[in-house]
Amino acid sequence: MRFSFLSLLRNAFSANENWPEQWRSPEPKPAYDVIIVGAGGHGLATAYYLAAECGVTNVAVIERGWLGGGNTGRNTTIIRSNYLWEESEALYDHALKLWKDLSQQLNYNVMYSPRGVLMLAHTIHDIQTSKRHVHANRLAGIDNEWLSPEECKAFCPPLNISDNIRYPVLGGALQRRGGVARHDAVAWGYARAASALGVDIIQNCEVTGIRRGANGAVEAVETSKGTIRAKKVGVVAAGHTSVVMGMAGVRMPLESYPLQALVSEPLKPAFPCVVMSNTIHAYISQSDKGDLVIGAGTDQYVSYSQTGGLHIDMHTLEAICELFPMFRRVRMMRSWGGIVDVTPDRSPIISKTPVPGLFVNCGWGTGGFKATPGSGNVFAHTIARGEPHPIAAPFSLDRFTTGRLIDEAAAAAVAH
Ligand SMILES: Cc1cc2nc3c(=O)[nH]c(=O)nc-3n(C[C@H](O)[C@H](O)[C@H](O)COP(=O)(O)OP(=O)(O)OC[C@H]3O[C@@H](n4cnc5c(N)ncnc54)[C@H](O)[C@@H]3O)c2cc1C
Repeated sequence: MRFSFLSLLRNAFSANENWPEQWRSPEPKPAYDVIIVGAGGHGLATAYYLAAECGVTNVAVIERGWLGGGNTGRNTTIIRSNYLWEESEALYDHALKLWKDLSQQLNYNVMYSPRGVLMLAHTIHDIQTSKRHVHANRLAGIDNEWLSPEECKAFCPPLNISDNIRYPVLGGALQRRGGVARHDAVAWGYARAASALGVDIIQNCEVTGIRRGANGAVEAVETSKGTIRAKKVGVVAAGHTSVVMGMAGVRMPLESYPLQALVSEPLKPAFPCVVMSNTIHAYISQSDKGDLVIGAGTDQYVSYSQTGGLHIDMHTLEAICELFPMFRRVRMMRSWGGIVDVTPDRSPIISKTPVPGLFVNCGWGTGGFKATPGSGNVFAHTIARGEPHPIAAPFSLDRFTTGRLIDEAAAAAVAH
C-alpha cells in the first residue's frame, strides 16, 4: 500500500488497524540470483537498486539479527559530502544527491534534513586542512565554505567562541547541504520498497559459511535456516565483514572497533545544525524528538563488543560542555556502541573479490551512514554487471596491493 493523504485518511477511519505489514517475512527459497549478507542500510539499499534499476528481483537479504539493528540503527546520522579526494567527492556527493529525493522515491519519510554541517577548527593545522578541503570541494563543484568564529556563532548560536577555553574556536567549514536523516526510517524505507519489488528479507538467519565450487566460484551460503544457493553473493556485514569473508577464504584489510554514541533527555528545539570538532572529538545535533545526539570516538582497541570505554564518552562530554556551556546540566539518557570496520586509508571497499561471484561492500568505518543510498546504488550495478560501477572502481579491494590508496585518514582525521 502506498502512503498518501487518502491512505492516511482511510486508515484513520479504521483506527489504524488495517495497515498491512511493511515488508514480507518469507522463509528462504532454495536458490536466488543474488544473496546479500547483512540487512543494514547498505545491504537493503543494494537489494532495492538491484530490483529497481538493474532488473534483478530474485534477491534475498540475509540478516542474522533484525534489519537495521547493526550500525545503521546505532549511528548519529550525520550526512555530508565534503571529503578531500576526487574519488570520495564523487561517491559521497552521488549519495547526497540521492538523499534529496529519497523520501519521494521510496514513498517513505526518511526525514532527511539538510540543516548544515559545521566542522570546527581549533588549531592552525585545522585551519589549513579545512581551507584545503573548502578549495578542493569548490573545484569539484561541491559546496563548502569557510566561516570566521563570529560567523560560526551566528550560524550556531549555542557555540562558545570565547578564547578562555582549552581549544578556542578559530573558524569552521560549513556544508549547507549536509545534515541528518532518521536512520531507522532509512532501513525501513529501503526494506519496504525492496520487498514490494520481490526481494526476500530473511531476518534471524545467520550466515555461517560460504560454499565454493570446484572452480573456486561461489555456489551457496550456509545459514542457520539451511543452505541457500546463489551464483552471486554480496557481503555487506560492516563490523563483521572480516568474519564473513573469512568463510570464503578471503582475508580483508580491516580492523573492527567499537564506536559509541549517546543521547540526552529531550529538550525544546535549541540546536539548529550539526557541529563536529575533530580536534577535541565531539559531534552533536538535535533530533526531531528533542534529544541531543552526541557521537564519541572509537575505542583504542579492536573488539567485537558493542560497548565501549566510559572514558571515551566522558572525554566527548567534556568537549561538548566546553563548546556549548548551556548543555552542562543536561542529563544523558542512553549510550551504546556499534562495531565499525576500518580500512588503512579510511575509505570504503566496494568491489569484486578474488573469488568469482563474491562481492564486498565494507570499510565504511565511522562514516558510512551518509553514503547509504550512493553505496547501495553503485554496489547494485557492480553486482549486476559483474564489473565495477565507474564511481565504485577506485574503491576496489586491490588498491591495497597496487598502492592506489584514497587516504581520507590524513585528510579527515574523523570521518563521520
Ligand atoms: C556510534 C556510531 C556513530 C556513527 N555515526 C555516523 C554518522 O554520524 N554519519 C555516518 O555517515 N556514519 C556514521 N556511523 C557509521 C555508520 O553507522 C556505518 O558506516 C553504516 O551504518 C554501515 O551500514 P551497513 O549497512 O554497512 O552496516 P550495518 O547496519 O551494521 O549492517 C550490517 C548487518 O550485517 C549483519 N551481519 C553481520 N554478520 C552477519 C552474518 N554472519 N549473517 C547475517 N548477517 C550478518 C549485522 O547483523 C548487521 O545488521 C556511525 C557508526 C556508529 C557505530
